[in-house]
Amino acid sequence: MNINLEPKAIQAAVAKLKFRTKAFVDGKFAPSASGKTYASINPANGRVIAQIAACEPEDVNRAVKIARKTFESGVWSRMKPADRKTVLLKFVELLEKNAMEIALLDSIDAGKPIFDCATIDIPDAIHCIHWHAELADKLYERTSPSGPDVVSMIVREPLGVVGMILPWNFPAQMMAWKIGPALAAGNSLVIKPAKQTSLSALRMAEIAAEAGLPAGVMNVVPGSGAVLGPALCRHMDVDMVAFTGSTSVGRDLLRYSAESNLKRIILELGGKNPQVVLADADLDNVAPHAVNSAFWNMGENCSSGSRLIVHRSVKDELLEKFIRETRKWPIGDPLNPKNRVGPLIEPSHMQTVLNYIETAKQEGGKLVLGGKRTLQKTGGNFVELTVFDEVTPSMTIAKQEIFGPVLAVIPVDSDEEAIAVANDTNYGLAASLHTRDIAKAHRFARAIRAGVVSVNSFSEGDLTTPFGGFKESGFFGRDKSSYAHEQYTELKTVWLQL
Ligand code: NAD
Repeated sequence: MNINLEPKAIQAAVAKLKFRTKAFVDGKFAPSASGKTYASINPANGRVIAQIAACEPEDVNRAVKIARKTFESGVWSRMKPADRKTVLLKFVELLEKNAMEIALLDSIDAGKPIFDCATIDIPDAIHCIHWHAELADKLYERTSPSGPDVVSMIVREPLGVVGMILPWNFPAQMMAWKIGPALAAGNSLVIKPAKQTSLSALRMAEIAAEAGLPAGVMNVVPGSGAVLGPALCRHMDVDMVAFTGSTSVGRDLLRYSAESNLKRIILELGGKNPQVVLADADLDNVAPHAVNSAFWNMGENCSSGSRLIVHRSVKDELLEKFIRETRKWPIGDPLNPKNRVGPLIEPSHMQTVLNYIETAKQEGGKLVLGGKRTLQKTGGNFVELTVFDEVTPSMTIAKQEIFGPVLAVIPVDSDEEAIAVANDTNYGLAASLHTRDIAKAHRFARAIRAGVVSVNSFSEGDLTTPFGGFKESGFFGRDKSSYAHEQYTELKTVWLQL
């Protein structure tokens, strides 16, 4: 699938954009019960894109009721896996046809560079749904070795009604990582996209319906997390909530579950990810990966390598190469396909990032790149790519997830110190390790406490590999791969005495 990134093609597609702004429940768009709306704002210029239905707990309750009824009807949950696959493959085909539109919706709504949306997010999102669709009729169930007078089957069943609460940084992609396996497994869904970025979720739900997904299987209720989140997560008829977002909201979800029906909660949370560069690393290879890791998606990325832990003997040489590499990352209008850096999601978040920059200066970090707001005249929330050298592990920017384009460079004097510093965090989502020594690569990849460790690269793996965190970066589950499929199912024993 190729999205045409010629400026003229982009402009023509922008001119044709139509926004779906209402809740999508039972296969239809409808206003929120209260009729209230809120403005979705373009982070690149501060202008209102559209007024979106501001759903309330009443809307969540209605969506859950419909999702439950649909689940119990068996129209999807008991459909033959091969037939579910056929519907999902049609969904994939229609997503491919509308890929430019979805890429643009995310670019405009989240301020993400269209280059990234068109070449990474949307192809990956579609591939994810495709991969899980194909898996639907390729999983075998088991019998246990219980003896000749019994047939003991171990089967997997769909869970039921699954709530999904999504972040704003990869709107369509994070939705696909959840709906792909959850739909393939036969569940009914109630999705709450991030308030800032609902447009792609609403359009994808509509496309799924066009593909033949039965009404009521995929419902989308846009609105405030603080209002809708508790309603969904405390609901007694929701079997599971899959969440991607901040660690603090993740904690709330566990409480909501404990205080209601002990629904399963899957948490994909924040990170303060290390990039470890040993003295023998190939610095020409490190530099582009390190820039990508630190600044891809403006650093608004849970797996962003925001701590560059580098052996002191190669630090200056690496920093020089790193800074040279950042010149290939122009900042500006996300709809210009040449730009690799767009605005931050909203003014309040930009201010948080600028405050971290001030704190880093006060705590003794040495600013060697950026450090300021930029392109103010656009009305967008742009912040320069920023690098602090001579950061120590106890400084605030070495500890807290900034979720912006701010890199902390932490010099170390030995391999052991590098690994100790890498693990000196409450998080454990992702890590990079750069070395030419294959033995060190093996040993240290095992020693780093993170869900994904990539050696001599920045990578989250691919669809065949699970993605999720250790420690406060995650809880109970994984996105992607067959592990994700399993977590949207219940394991059942059927004991048939002969
Ligand atoms: P957030 O936690 O503020 O919001 C995430 C979602 O939760 C949104 O839909 C929001 O409306 C909702 N929400 C807010 N308050 C809620 C509440 N009380 N109850 C239930 N839902 C509520 O996070 P964000 O700012 O949208 O996203 C950034 C965070 O997400 C970062 O910490 C980032 O690391 C993390 N993230 C993690 C992954 C991963 O796979 N591990 C991927 C992307 C982002």
